[in-house]
Amino acid sequence: MGQSAKRSTLSFVGTGDSLGVPRVYCDCPVCAEARATGANLRLRSSALLETPEGPLLLDCGPDWRRQMETLGCRRTERVLLTHAHIDHIGGLPEWADACRWLGTKGRAYAPASVFDIVRRMYPWLESQLSYEAIDDGWSFGGWRIAPWRVNHGKNGHAYAYRFEGSSFNWAYCPDSIGLRAEQKQPLFGLDLLVLGTSYYREEAAYETRSVYDIAEAAELLAEVKPGLTRFTHMSHGIDVRAGYPLPPRAALAFAGMRIELAAR
Ligand SMILES: [Zn+2]
Ligand SMILES: [Zn+2]
Repeated sequence: MGQSAKRSTLSFVGTGDSLGVPRVYCDCPVCAEARATGANLRLRSSALLETPEGPLLLDCGPDWRRQMETLGCRRTERVLLTHAHIDHIGGLPEWADACRWLGTKGRAYAPASVFDIVRRMYPWLESQLSYEAIDDGWSFGGWRIAPWRVNHGKNGHAYAYRFEGSSFNWAYCPDSIGLRAEQKQPLFGLDLLVLGTSYYREEAAYETRSVYDIAEAAELLAEVKPGLTRFTHMSHGIDVRAGYPLPPRAALAFAGMRIELAAR
């Protein structure tokens, strides 16, 4: 595919949970710090994959407009969606409107069942967006991209994506918890895992939860052994100043963190 000469990079543009940090209603120390100095300020989770074939935005949440401004990115042509929760698709109406003003048609990629929900939520978008069902996978930018269904706890299920390149494999899995054995299979043999962890340790009853915490993620990582791990989808239950013990080769992601997707 010739991508060995030209490399892809992944940039985080948002690393927050569904409400972002600070939470509007909250005065906890993490939210207060996010308002005052901003180390913990986190927009809703999204990332930009830049490839030799062009950029691909991973999820399009309600902070899409601000994230594009921060990136200095005036156009979004392609978006890959993990599931139809507001924090992952809430920017679609604005993106569609931007396409209308530009006279273009955006392309959104996801398993067909995600678009069934998007159509019910925003029935007017398809004049400006084309929905590409990729249940059987998709090749783009030198990557073979395969979705798989992951447990999302009390929220049902979401999808995650495995990206296979000529010399580097990685996965984007922002919203999952308690993966069953067959759901863990695509996490083996990864050079990089981007995993959502809402809290360091979440005290709420397990049946009310929907995303891994870092303590549980440590057990998952010990099993699937990715080369690198970056945590995203972090709520006000994670303080970047805390210096938590993290699993080997794992780190908290932040907006602006950039990773070269190539074997070293
Ligand atoms: Zn989410
Ligand atoms: Zn979700």
